[in-house]
Amino acid sequence: MRANNEINEEESLQKITNPIVSIGIFEDDTFDQSFSPKKEKDSNSKKNLTKSINGSMIEMVLNFPIIDSSYNYAGNYENYVTNTLSSIILIKKFLQSQNINLGKKFNEKITENKNNKIYNSNDKKILVLDLDETLIHSDFEGKFKLLNNYDAVINFNEDNINYSVGIYLRPGLFDFLKIVKENFDLYIYTASTLSYCNAIINLIDPEKNIFKDILFRNDCININNQIFIKDISIFDKIENVIIVDNSLYSFMNQISNGILINSFYGDKSDMELLNVMNYLIGFLSTAEDVRKINEHFFNFKSIMQEIEKNLICNVPSNNILMNV
Ligand SMILES: [Mg+2]
Repeated sequence: MRANNEINEEESLQKITNPIVSIGIFEDDTFDQSFSPKKEKDSNSKKNLTKSINGSMIEMVLNFPIIDSSYNYAGNYENYVTNTLSSIILIKKFLQSQNINLGKKFNEKITENKNNKIYNSNDKKILVLDLDETLIHSDFEGKFKLLNNYDAVINFNEDNINYSVGIYLRPGLFDFLKIVKENFDLYIYTASTLSYCNAIINLIDPEKNIFKDILFRNDCININNQIFIKDISIFDKIENVIIVDNSLYSFMNQISNGILINSFYGDKSDMELLNVMNYLIGFLSTAEDVRKINEHFFNFKSIMQEIEKNLICNVPSNNILMNV
């Protein structure tokens, strides 16, 4: 990250962009922006965890740690999906044990902030798009600077700190947006902060005529500032709503509405947007219920059910501080 002020770079990155995909019990987890699988968590994480919860739940969570979206790279799809879905089951069981109802929490939020659900304006389906590592990559740490020249540099201010960040646009981005806009109402739903998000939107939609609306971090279900769930029940007619995201955690509340796209870090030969576009237009634009088609192709729900059958969960009763 290149900031103009003296700041803790890692902390600031965590505050602004995609969340570190971890839950509070993994206190020393950090977001790893690389194609390579992260190293095994060191023994301190396990110690922190064992302080918090007991019994067979410990063993299960240790076996299925929270999976960083950087694991979602080409060639690791099945591994990423299986492990992430396993951890989602455990997270949901854990939250259930703490009497935390994510759906209820979000419905309260809709009432409080939005008054009403979001309705599509015509007969088009709704396509909800993630930003970071789905449409663009912001190279905060300069890790990928040598990979290719940046496509753009954005400047923005967050908490009185000025940022200047190199951006890679996913190949085919503008054609993708132009074509899918003909078939869908487009929304951005990002876990990023508003000022950063606005800087990206100014770059990819300067005329402000592509996206119907922007949902950002405050519209996510925030679990301890570490998992940000994008609950698309905020939209009416859920059978007509599709979300494209590089993290399965983002759409864990409506798993069959999601299309999982590989994480993008600047690879100029990436073809994923073209693949997603063909799928969206070929299979979903006229579907009666997008969830049925997605389930047919991706099986997220049935994989979860299969994994759950093999898990015997003894849910702990002691309390862990969860900021939801
Ligand atoms: Mg993302």
